[in-house]
Amino acid sequence: MEILRTEDLKKKYGEGENEVWALKGITISSEKGEFISIVGPSGSGKSTLLHLIGGLDSISSGKIYIEEKDISELSEEELSKFRRQKVGFIFQFYNLIPVLTVEENILLPILLDEKEPDRGYIDDVLKFLNIKDKKNKLPSQLSGGEQQRVAIARAVVNKPAIILADEPTGNLDTKTGSEVMELLRDLNKEYDQTILMVTHDLKLAKQADRTITLVDGKIEKEEHNANVVK
Ligand code: ADP
Ligand code: ADP
Repeated sequence: MEILRTEDLKKKYGEGENEVWALKGITISSEKGEFISIVGPSGSGKSTLLHLIGGLDSISSGKIYIEEKDISELSEEELSKFRRQKVGFIFQFYNLIPVLTVEENILLPILLDEKEPDRGYIDDVLKFLNIKDKKNKLPSQLSGGEQQRVAIARAVVNKPAIILADEPTGNLDTKTGSEVMELLRDLNKEYDQTILMVTHDLKLAKQADRTITLVDGKIEKEEHNANVVK
């Protein structure tokens, strides 16, 4: 099944002399279960691409389909539901809510949707990410790597169509970053989870199935990575 497709996607910020075309026509697609990395110099449009696909910002022209549904046609209310149900975000600085416990942070997307949490699945995820014994801690009581694992748990509990990760290892030391990367790969394999990850780390990028290089708002190249063990 095709999870993601963008067609000639463009994004302009500002007007007149402040006008910046952050994306100048991006066409990409992903089948279910693919792990794609996006690399490119600072300012090449990586974050913008992720934000548009996640419905966090409006498109200037072109199309985005998630599970074959055109997200540009969603109302504000539908879009906010789309973000909660279809997309899992992972950010560089974790974006956990400091006054909520680990468990509350992870359950938040489900509670906002007024759904009954699937306790068995959540327990599985916590075990998988090795944070089960941290459930009642506050984010400030955890290391950076642990906080990012909590953020990963929060991103996957709703079983989203796609995980969007923006520099998920950017704030971590090399060793912890590699561990988080390994978890993302395991998640991709074990749960057939589709992942789109922005990184400036070429070594990490090559561990994804496919790497897309952006330069100045355009796709410069797209390559399948050899030696990815699946
Ligand atoms: P990257 O993630 O590759 O560093 P970005 O997507 O953040 O690139 O930025 C692409 C271009 O768009 C840059 O020139 C950046 O300055 C510009 N840009 C990004 N967000 C905004 C914004 N909210 N308002 C104005 N310009 C922006
Ligand atoms: P990152 O690339 O790691 O996401 P940035 O510093 O590029 O971090 O962007 C942080 C936030 O600021 C984003 O929401 C982005 O849209 C916004 N932003 C980036 N560049 C600009 C800009 N030139 N003007 C206004 N906002 C910007």
